[in-house]
Amino acid sequence: MHFLVVALPTGAQLPSAAKELTGGAKRLASSSAGTVSVAILGRGVAEASREAVAFGADRVYVVDDDALSNYDAESYLMALVAVVGESGASVVLFAADAFTSEIAPRLAHRLGSGAVTGCAGIHLSREGQLSFTCSVYGGKAMAEIAVRGLPQVATVAAGTLEALAPDYSREVAVKWIGLPAGAEARGPKVLELRKEEAEGARLEDAKVVVAGGRGLSEAGNFSYLEELARVVGGAVAASRPAVDAGWVPPRMQVGQTGKTVSPDLYIAVAISGASQHLAGMNRSKHIVVINKDPDAPFFKVAELGAVADYKKVVPLLTEKLKTLRS
Ligand code: FAD
Repeated sequence: MHFLVVALPTGAQLPSAAKELTGGAKRLASSSAGTVSVAILGRGVAEASREAVAFGADRVYVVDDDALSNYDAESYLMALVAVVGESGASVVLFAADAFTSEIAPRLAHRLGSGAVTGCAGIHLSREGQLSFTCSVYGGKAMAEIAVRGLPQVATVAAGTLEALAPDYSREVAVKWIGLPAGAEARGPKVLELRKEEAEGARLEDAKVVVAGGRGLSEAGNFSYLEELARVVGGAVAASRPAVDAGWVPPRMQVGQTGKTVSPDLYIAVAISGASQHLAGMNRSKHIVVINKDPDAPFFKVAELGAVADYKKVVPLLTEKLKTLRS
């Protein structure tokens, strides 16, 4: 089975999600006498090939072009079709995010195959059949899905697969692929990108996530969580009602229609634990819940919990951690 991991770096570093996919693909490939290629797409991103090799790629394809400097599905699709053709991949893996949710199904359609999005597990049967585990019905059930046709295309949630330890002594051929002519001319164009100013750790990469829900009552009360997150070097997240109320920006939403995170520690404050929220964080290693309602469903998945008013518990926890840290 020949895997192609699609990496979309913004500079010289391979995104952590691509490292996870490469490691996971490598394990699956080794039990099927297969290979793992990594496709690096973007502008000014060729340097990331070094990390792709160190993290396990058997081959690396680079498409480094001005036309790939901004979000532009059509140019990326044309580049991907060229790389898939060159690599002979039978499975194409993307890290799940808003952009890949758009391009992965379009790539599958263009190649006459099928796509699975946001999967949370990949299994290879003894017969050599690959299947993808995905949550369905808002996280209430898990489905095992097989893709007919080749290449099988999937987007994989962060934390599903595990990166290998890097080996910077590995040497592997890197192949440059030119963007097919006309790619820049097609489809809508992004004219400008504005970066949102964000403080602290990136939600997707944070080892500790402190999330707040509707029970916080108002935007200003997120300051309780910000203080706690600052002390533990974590990121602040939110449930959907907190985003819908305009208390925090959409990039902070965790859940079925938000981001998927898998930190070492997830502290849920005043969030009830609806399945749609759990779908975005149930791969966290440790879960701590603070909720005044002892019957809140979140307690069912918590390792540790406090049935209490968050306004009393969060400052105590923050102070205690501050003391322990100093
Ligand atoms: P609530 O359910 O209102 O819970 C608030 C909690 O705060 C309660 O448990 C309460 O006991 C507690 N509380 C109140 N005051 C305090 C206090 N002083 N101290 C401690 N605890 C207190 N939701 C998401 O989060 N992410 C998604 O991506 C998402 N996608 C969705 C997609 C679809 C198609 C649908 C239908 C829904 C989706 N939802 C999503 C919404 C989801 O179903 C829930 O409605 C939502 O998660 C509830 O948010 P909440 O827990 O913050 O609010």
